[in-house]
Order: sequence, then C-alpha cells, then structure tokens
Amino acid sequence: MSPQHILIIEDEAAIREMLRMALTKAEFVVSEAANVQQARTSLFNHLPELILLDWMLPETSGLDLARQLKNDPQMKHIPIILLTARGEEGDKVRGFDVGVDDYVTKPFSIRELVARIKAVLRRVSPHFDHDFLVIKDLHLDIAEHRVKVGETEVHLGPTEFRLLQFFMQHPEKVYTRTQVLDLVWGSNVYIEERTVDVHIRRLRKALEVHGYDSFVQTVRGVGYRFTTGQLTTG
Ligand code: CA
Repeated sequence: MSPQHILIIEDEAAIREMLRMALTKAEFVVSEAANVQQARTSLFNHLPELILLDWMLPETSGLDLARQLKNDPQMKHIPIILLTARGEEGDKVRGFDVGVDDYVTKPFSIRELVARIKAVLRRVSPHFDHDFLVIKDLHLDIAEHRVKVGETEVHLGPTEFRLLQFFMQHPEKVYTRTQVLDLVWGSNVYIEERTVDVHIRRLRKALEVHGYDSFVQTVRGVGYRFTTGQLTTG
C-alpha cells in the first residue's frame, strides 16, 4: 500500500525537523510548511492524509487555520492533529469545537504522537491502515500478529505467519524456494530449501480448515505462488 502523506505546519524549524525525521522513520511521507501561506501552497499541490498543525503560528494561528480548513468542502475530510504548548481544558474544547480530530500537548513523546496519528488515520480510513492485509475473508493484522477468516482466528506459528504475510503482500507472483528463503528468512541465514516446503505444508494445513489452502499453489519446477484465482495445477 502506498505510504501516507502528512503535512507538518510548524514555524519552529527545530521542531519541524524533529517531526520530519521521526515521521519519515515511521514510514510516512512528509511535507513541511513554516506558516499558513506555505501550508496553503502545499495543500493546493497535494492533499495529505493528515495534517499536524501547530497552534502557535505567526500571523494566522493554527486554530484559525483549522477552522478554515474544516469549513472548506475540499479540505474538511483531512484529519487534523493540533500541537500546542497549552494544556488548559478550555483550549482543548476550543480545538475540538473547530473540528480538529485530536490534540497533542508539547512536550510530547514521538512514540505517543505516532500512536495518535495512526489511531486517527485508522478511525477516518480503516482501509488505509497499512498494518492490515485483507484478501477476501482472510485478514492479517501485522501489528497484532493475528490472522482471521471472517471472525474465526487462524492459529499460525511465527514462521507460517511471516510466510503468509509475505504472500499476501505479493499475491499472484511466482517465487522460487531460494527467493522465499531470502525474502522471508533473510539472505544471511543458512537454511535448506526443503525447510520452505515444510513451512508451506504447515501453512496450508492451517488454512485448509477454512478452505483457503488452495491459495498457496505449487508451481511445478519453479516454486510457489499465492493466488486468489481458481486453482490451476502447475
Ligand atoms: Ca509554533
């Protein structure tokens, strides 16, 4: 899934830099604005999935900008997290009144901020959540390390989980045993190729109960493929 885009609007260069580094590390694509004018230019060029907005900005305040954006039919669906040094309840209420989606008080921990960002993104657009893979009724939650078919949990060992995650991220492509080893186990680990077969068998067995075993296909003479199409024996 394509990375999510966050616009940081903050006049303090050091904080902006820190946020850019942290969010890039968390695999977001980041653009920056030091004031409302730059923010408007950035929004004109590209609509982000989320805006991180500082309350205290020169000239127009973050709160005023938030109010304007939430009244703009083109912008109002973009979630806003307001950053502020103020912690008074009254200010929080004013922020929520304007329609901001969440509120983080400085100083904040990066961990907490990233968690809040992910929570807001999950709330507004669950299908954008890249911690989650879905193929038909098969749901794989990367963060929680759980697999479900509908509401029924599929119990997998850690290796089978990684295998399934890899296959769901790369459906309809054929991989040789060597490629699967390199991509799932890592190229610096020495494991015999038949080990792949053993784990594929276990994965199929776990999926068989739910009728999904035929998704893991053997491509004779080549390797394996994860396919959601009809079974065609190779
Ligand atoms: Ca500021």
